[in-house]
Amino acid sequence: MSSIAAFNAFTRDLDEQDTRMPVLFVGHGSPMNGIEQNEFSSYWQKLGKELPVPKAVLVVSAHWLTRGTHITAMDPPKTIHDFGGFPNELYEVQYPAPGDPLLASETKELVKSTDIGLDHDWGLDHGAWTVVKWMYPDATIPVLQLSIDYSKPAEYHYNLAKELVALRKKGVLIIGSGNMVHNLRMIAWDKFDVPNYGYDWAIEMHELFKNKISDRDDKALINYGSLSKSASLAIPTPDHYFPLMYTLGLKDRKDDISFFNDKLVAGSLNMTSVKFG
Ligand code: ZN
Repeated sequence: MSSIAAFNAFTRDLDEQDTRMPVLFVGHGSPMNGIEQNEFSSYWQKLGKELPVPKAVLVVSAHWLTRGTHITAMDPPKTIHDFGGFPNELYEVQYPAPGDPLLASETKELVKSTDIGLDHDWGLDHGAWTVVKWMYPDATIPVLQLSIDYSKPAEYHYNLAKELVALRKKGVLIIGSGNMVHNLRMIAWDKFDVPNYGYDWAIEMHELFKNKISDRDDKALINYGSLSKSASLAIPTPDHYFPLMYTLGLKDRKDDISFFNDKLVAGSLNMTSVKFG
């Protein structure tokens, strides 16, 4: 490689684009959404066609919980089937998107508050691939994951996200993938087919989350335990909620806010998703 080519390769990821990418929080729900064509996956498909084409996708998934923060730096990342008891068809899915080790290193450099680890073991868990495969079925756009340091509180994740803001201008689509209302112990298994079915406490929290997001009341969302007595039912553990903290931290006042896949499922889940920008 000539020195100029080497320089170009090195600066490729530093180029700023005119288009500032939106930021998404996506409710991913059941892993079956990865293979079922339904109202949720159909919307992910539509989004992939409508959004500006990203240079890379960075997913903060509820299913990669670690000590310290890590970013996938391998190329390509493997497809991880991190669930049990589903049909074989779901275990056979491969999503062969490339990685982007250079972007992983650049992201590590952006963050000053902690030392982000470059990871070569993880890959794409179902919080990432069940959604992104519908958006970008050709699997030509690099996909990376950022882990959630599960030893840290909500405010840490919100503040860490602010250090990643520059990625939006560099054509990186950042997706927080979780669920706002997520209580697996209380799922009404016989109500999956009942449209928009939620328990009273789930409906209450579903509305409260949306109101606070629309009001841009990030402080209330960070201090989620104080939102309502029902908060501990909607968020029995914060793994599926913390991805929202990244999305909130990455948005700013210029971003329009719109909701999609705004539905309750099986009593104790919601699929409500948000687009900022
Ligand atoms: Zn999940």
